[in-house]
Amino acid sequence: MEQIELKSKILVAQIGELTDEEQELVHQAITSTAGSYAPYSHFRVGAAVYLSNGKTVVGCNQENVSYPAGICAERTAIYAAGAQYPDTPVEMIAIAARGTDGLLLEEPISPCGICRQTIVELETRFHQPIRILLYGTKHIYLIKGIKELVPLGFTDF
Ligand SMILES: [Zn+2]
Repeated sequence: MEQIELKSKILVAQIGELTDEEQELVHQAITSTAGSYAPYSHFRVGAAVYLSNGKTVVGCNQENVSYPAGICAERTAIYAAGAQYPDTPVEMIAIAARGTDGLLLEEPISPCGICRQTIVELETRFHQPIRILLYGTKHIYLIKGIKELVPLGFTDF
């Protein structure tokens, strides 16, 4: 029997080590936590996507008493971007969150499985990796593409 080892590479950075564009995108993700509707989890997440046309679109989690009806910040931003700028590739996404105490999380927040699959679809659709910036107050994870988080992603293409 053969074993395959899958490895992921994630850079750990401080905010000052990011490019100006990356810092601005992280700032937008942090700011967009303010629009979160999270009366059930009290966990407010913000996301910001940077498109190839230079535009930024933000999103935040929107919960519902019927829990599955809610949607994550990442998909809110991605789908809003798709609605506002159809057929425009996403180049980067930044994600930040505030815990139940209202403070920004110290450790980077990572997208859930459904959001990861959504990013897999976007990368496949536009044939280019999406840079992922996961914010925490201690450090930021810089990820060059979703394959680092989903090494055997499901695609239909
Ligand atoms: Zn999600």
